[in-house]
Amino acid sequence: MDISPDKPALQVLLCSPRGFCAGVVRAIESVERALAIYGAPVYVRHEIVHNRYVVDGLRKKGAIFVEELDEVPDDGQPVIFSAHGVPRSVPAEAGRRNLLTLDATCPLVTKVHREAEIHYRKGREIVLIGHAGHPEVVGTIGQLPPGIVTLVQDIDDVDNFVPKDRTNLAFVTQTTLSVQDTAAIVERLKARFPEIVGPHKEDICYATTNRQEAVLRVAPIVDAMVVVGAPNSSNSQRLKEVAERAGCPKAVLLQRAADIDWSFFDGIKTLGVTAGASAPEVLVEEILDAFAQRYVMNVETISAAEEGVFFPLPRPLRETQAAE
Ligand code: SF4
Repeated sequence: MDISPDKPALQVLLCSPRGFCAGVVRAIESVERALAIYGAPVYVRHEIVHNRYVVDGLRKKGAIFVEELDEVPDDGQPVIFSAHGVPRSVPAEAGRRNLLTLDATCPLVTKVHREAEIHYRKGREIVLIGHAGHPEVVGTIGQLPPGIVTLVQDIDDVDNFVPKDRTNLAFVTQTTLSVQDTAAIVERLKARFPEIVGPHKEDICYATTNRQEAVLRVAPIVDAMVVVGAPNSSNSQRLKEVAERAGCPKAVLLQRAADIDWSFFDGIKTLGVTAGASAPEVLVEEILDAFAQRYVMNVETISAAEEGVFFPLPRPLRETQAAE
């Protein structure tokens, strides 16, 4: 480290776990593996994970990102579904066109799809707690016929919800929500509809929970908090909110070191750093390096959980790998 007497001291508390989760690793590896097997181009419906650096890197290797299948030509090359999941209409359309598809939907998102399906088969009306327009929410709602799933985003939505049969309800949630906010929404749902059924707590995934838990430990004791992540990354946005609510005077989402507004950090003596589940560690290092140019840093890791989760690649990619 470049130590200069002119630089102010900065105590950095690095949250652990942070950054890539098992679902994101699997999704990125799926694209890389597909490129190795099928050659370029490989089409990817939606950003494979919500991070520009990752998407640009895969684009350079030959991935073509599209928003809808009608942008995919019939050239025999595969199309990959992103980690967020897709409505059923998407694989159906791909089937009609005989497209070769690879599904990189995170298994923890697929688990929520299956839960919703089971509730539907049992004749229950379903409440989905989530954020309107997020691709995961669009995918979960799209597992079932229109009108079966009602989205609630906050407690007001719960209060305004008029079910067809208040005794036959179930709920599921988006995987990347704020643990605290969701607990409050679930509590209100259970208060209004005591017979509602759902998962034990909610469907928020281990990665979201652990990253928020680490932020809860660090945010109250630092002057500022950096969340490395993209503005369209739900779990990164939640980490910033969690930091603010935990009492951190200022929190900011940063994609790259070049985005740092140094005036924001004027006078800080302690800094918390974390990263959303779709942000690669190389970007955390880039941002820490930028701080090291200006401060004499002492970095300490604050750990909230150990993670050893691993998801195997989608089956067609696994089988081809085994055959080699
Ligand atoms: S954040 Fe959770 S649900 Fe989303 S990809 Fe990662 S492990 Fe899967």
